[in-house]
Amino acid sequence: MNLDARPPVPHHPMPTELLFRNDAYMKTAAARVVAVTERGIELDRTIFYAQGGGQVGDTGVLLRANGEKIPVADTRKGEALDSVLHVLAAGTPRPEVGEELALAIDWERRYLLMRLHTALHVMSCVVVAPVTGGNIAPERARLDFDIDMTLLDAGRIEREVNALIARGVATETVWITDEELDARPELVKTMSVQPPRGAGRVRLLKIPGIDLQPCGGTHVANIGEIGAIRVLKIRSEGKRNKRVEIGLA
Ligand SMILES: [Zn+2]
Repeated sequence: MNLDARPPVPHHPMPTELLFRNDAYMKTAAARVVAVTERGIELDRTIFYAQGGGQVGDTGVLLRANGEKIPVADTRKGEALDSVLHVLAAGTPRPEVGEELALAIDWERRYLLMRLHTALHVMSCVVVAPVTGGNIAPERARLDFDIDMTLLDAGRIEREVNALIARGVATETVWITDEELDARPELVKTMSVQPPRGAGRVRLLKIPGIDLQPCGGTHVANIGEIGAIRVLKIRSEGKRNKRVEIGLA
């Protein structure tokens, strides 16, 4: 990295240890504040997922040693690779750099996101077409496909996705190198979001016998936890964006 041409920065962004990558079920953790900026709070480690890959950022609370609660309104990516900004609402008290905090995510909301997110992986194997977009919110999730509208049948998608969910398959996280991914371009279904490069390795979500694709998001441990989905809406959002929106049944 050439720092010579850069203006002085108020702090040096540090990568945050992303605890949810190894265990998406962590509801609480302890962490130390490493930076406090206008944009948000950076911690040495976090359980808060930063908005990305179509999934909204986590909300929750940072608890100070004196019992004061600092609500986290949103979580966004910071400047450095893997740095995370815990975004506070205006007027919220700011913690001090070096302060130890207890973290708690809004678990009910996150678990909905994990179930819907994993459901999209399953749906991407039922609707076989390039994915041109996607979004995951707590109430609904959607994928856009480059496909002919006549090939999208709500009843069929619902039945086939729910039949796969009913298999109750355990999900796995697999890491491969950038070179291994380059050698297997068929793994990348999502045309609009290329997997992050530069870290030397790429994280994949594997649902054995169903799906394998690069993803840095949060997933349920077993697809049976999704329960069942229903198709809320199918509509055209453009020539290459036929949108299928789902919710939990
Ligand atoms: Zn995923």
